[in-house]
Amino acid sequence: MEHPVILELQNIVKLFPNSKELAVDNVSFSLEQGELLGLLGPSGCGKTTLLRIIAGFETISQGNVAIGGKLVSDRSYCLPPEKRNTGMVFQDYALFPHLTVEENIAFGLKCQQTANNKIFGLSSVVRQQIKFRVQEVLELVGLEDLEDRYPHELSGGQQQRVSLARALTPQPALILLDEPLSNLDVQVRQRLRTEIRSILKAAGISAIFVTHDREEALAISDRIAVMCQGKLEQIGTPETVYTQPSSPFVAEFVTQANFLPAQRVGKDWQTELGTVTLASNHQRLNCDRGELMLCQEDIAITPDEKSEIVVTGRQFLGREYYYILATPSGQNVYARTSLSNSIEIGTKVSLLIRSASQVFPLN
Ligand code: ADP
Ligand code: MG
Repeated sequence: MEHPVILELQNIVKLFPNSKELAVDNVSFSLEQGELLGLLGPSGCGKTTLLRIIAGFETISQGNVAIGGKLVSDRSYCLPPEKRNTGMVFQDYALFPHLTVEENIAFGLKCQQTANNKIFGLSSVVRQQIKFRVQEVLELVGLEDLEDRYPHELSGGQQQRVSLARALTPQPALILLDEPLSNLDVQVRQRLRTEIRSILKAAGISAIFVTHDREEALAISDRIAVMCQGKLEQIGTPETVYTQPSSPFVAEFVTQANFLPAQRVGKDWQTELGTVTLASNHQRLNCDRGELMLCQEDIAITPDEKSEIVVTGRQFLGREYYYILATPSGQNVYARTSLSNSIEIGTKVSLLIRSASQVFPLN
């Protein structure tokens, strides 16, 4: 069954006043009900600007935004944030320090209800409903026992769960998370990213999760949108983006692949590391020269005195070794191998390319 479209962006352009570069450059994509989209890209590529545009904190220069099928932004119109049915979660949690966990979470709902009942204030029935909903969300984010604490009495991870709970309570159509885990230490970050995904899935709410961390985006997203200098480079499942990057930028930023100059010879591609046959699903190219993409995990290395390739660096990464190899032309090639393959720095090695699927044409 087709899921309804929750968010639709069409040709979004944002030029800040006094700026020459577009912060967002012709970005279009849509998001389905219940989908978790990872918005990934290096610092300064326009992720926060795009999120603020969707939330209504930023106007647009061109294009349009629709939420739940209703136009919320175009070049002459901008529906205010509180009327967009979206929730935000920020890197710095943005909790009210003088309110308890329960009061922080109830805050969004109370504002909504008070706006609807300006004259009479909140009735006891509404108060009861709010309390019930807050308890429900506290349970969803696993904070049942901490409702009376103040933010300073919580760990960073717990504060971020309160912030997520506050965004979830009014049951918005869409939650926007801007680098929500960047202030946390590695272990909390890894655990919380999985929890956030489960919480969003349990609530059935669509979300955009902004991050500059490729592993985080790959681990939790249904689809990933990769941005570079304001442009949307590629959007697809983590598997597709990783194994079939659509541009050298994505291959470098997401796949962390090597690139080897390559020349077509018949059906194959010749490189300084030997002749490579592309896997069958490779893109069709009309050129004879290009850059062969070679994943770090697709290279096997064995000691070989006759080889001209030398191990110049090795890092022990716990589960694997990361090798830096110098080719005869002086290029560095990076490889990851199992721990059983321990080779000393300075050793000459031959390489076996297990698989390669892509060549990017030379510009
Ligand atoms: P990211 O979140 O990916 O790090 P941002 O969306 O914050 O990137 O920024 C994208 C670009 O827009 C950057 O070049 C940044 O300097 C610029 N920018 C962001 N906000 C403003 C602003 N209010 N005024 C002018 N330029 C801005
Ligand atoms: Mg940002």
